[in-house]
Amino acid sequence: MLQKVEGIVLRASSYGESDKIVTIFSRELGKRAAMARGAKKPTSRLASVSQPFTYGYFLIQQGRGMGTLQQGEIIDSMRTIREDIFTTAYASFIMELVDKLIDDESPKPHLFDILHQALQAISDDYDPEAISLFVEWKMLATAGIYPVLHQCVNCGATDGEFAFSFAQIGFLCHRCFSIDRYLIRLTPAQVKLIRTFYTVPIDQVGKLTLKKETKTFIKKIIRTIYSEQVGIQLKSQKFLDQMERTPEFFTPKKDPSSEEH
Ligand SMILES: [Zn+2]
Repeated sequence: MLQKVEGIVLRASSYGESDKIVTIFSRELGKRAAMARGAKKPTSRLASVSQPFTYGYFLIQQGRGMGTLQQGEIIDSMRTIREDIFTTAYASFIMELVDKLIDDESPKPHLFDILHQALQAISDDYDPEAISLFVEWKMLATAGIYPVLHQCVNCGATDGEFAFSFAQIGFLCHRCFSIDRYLIRLTPAQVKLIRTFYTVPIDQVGKLTLKKETKTFIKKIIRTIYSEQVGIQLKSQKFLDQMERTPEFFTPKKDPSSEEH
């Protein structure tokens, strides 16, 4: 059966002399791997459509086992993302997160939209660090984690001082501080910020200007949830952390001859 899908190439790996196996996250089918015959040859019509980040329409021949990528039509190659080491690093991190958290082949149009809008926002020059943090919050539900942020997770109170509890995955009010000795105390502004960040639609994220310390604070919370509750390790995170610590070593490449073809 031949099926046309709207998708994004999550990753591509070499297979044999000239083929590639591409993993496509599509609106219609969810995550699927497909064989792209001849895609390693630069002259192949599948060479450019099988590159990671590519957003387009893909014609997949489904049979028993792995499908075959027959044709691709690029809507956006996300070239601007690939041309810069910072945007590439953040976008790679987002792709790996989506890839790791989705393990079946059922359609997930809502997640597809999040991924697509995130890549689009990075490509449109919005702060890639803020966008990746946003995706991390949004993907928590896919990992089965629903932080309680509208009230105290223990007693349900909506007033008072609040703290974030990693053990309870949510806010605790001052009356309940004693149930978690590792909580993080929050100012009213931080409470508001965390709520906003969790509930804001992605097309509004680009409009939020976040200070460096705000992002560091949000990141500390979200990364702790991922490492303690979700338990996934991302290869791209190590590089990202290194890059954030010493950005001066990672100047964006400007030389067009160094581009991939
Ligand atoms: Zn309480």
